Amino acid sequence: MLFYTHDDCLGHEMQPGHPERPDRLRAVNESLTASGLKDGFDCRAARPIDTEALAAVHAPDYLAGLNAVSPASGLVRLDADTAMSPGTLQAAAVAAGAVTDAVREVLGGKERRAFCAVRPPGHHAEAGAAMGFCYYNSIALGAAQALEEVDRVAILDFDVHHGNGTVDAFKDRPEALVCSSFQHPFYPYRYVDIEAPNIVNTPLPAGSDSAAFRHAVERDWAAAVNAHRPDLILVSAGFDAHRDDPLGGLLLDDEDFRWITEFIVDLAVTHADGRVVSALEGGYDLDALGRCAVLHTKALSHSL
Ligand SMILES: [Zn+2]
Repeated sequence: MLFYTHDDCLGHEMQPGHPERPDRLRAVNESLTASGLKDGFDCRAARPIDTEALAAVHAPDYLAGLNAVSPASGLVRLDADTAMSPGTLQAAAVAAGAVTDAVREVLGGKERRAFCAVRPPGHHAEAGAAMGFCYYNSIALGAAQALEEVDRVAILDFDVHHGNGTVDAFKDRPEALVCSSFQHPFYPYRYVDIEAPNIVNTPLPAGSDSAAFRHAVERDWAAAVNAHRPDLILVSAGFDAHRDDPLGGLLLDDEDFRWITEFIVDLAVTHADGRVVSALEGGYDLDALGRCAVLHTKALSHSL
């Protein structure tokens, strides 16, 4: 299995005490190293995405605006919970570059699975808006990259927050199926009621547990993916639906992240020659994040 990360992703910082902090990525990498799993991975240093490739998802004036406000020092606040430091755009470019490189490699046939341990997350970033700790929509950029080579992709998003940015990117592109499970009502309150055949929303009330999550995902996602028959599955792997997460209000356990990963891998084996590219999104309890990243990547690399 391919594994992408880069220290540049530690260089993005927001205000002190912000939950989306560099220690998240350290927790993931340290847990994967301690588990011994990393020894079996084909580890690659992520590279920044080509500037032109960002236009596959993002509007030119949005990209120009981000570059214009990127600070040489200090922080620039974009919204109530999203700010830029001097290292933000490089971190975001490396995060997106990891996913697009992973897609290229997996479609190239050398490896069937890839995990990108990167930050900032991306699934809230819309075509023309940074929000919710996100700047470039890495998973959407990866999907757009894939659609240069294959006919259909599926993006499966189990972060506790709705992947509004990914929906925005593909709401008019039926070749991408976007399935998102999320706490509802909850941030970001966008695109929840969208009616499009390729957008599958799976809202879950606060307090939903393992059984409710598994039932809803099986009910909504399996039929959609089986009908879509994707050539590649991309995963927005957020771990903030865990019961220990300080932001989310769902009650998933460690084992649910193994379960959802095995569920996704099974779908990929059926339809996509086993090809899955997964990227880190949320997850703000460092201990739960580390443990669940181990379970996710272990299940992702299993059966290879
Ligand atoms: Zn989230």
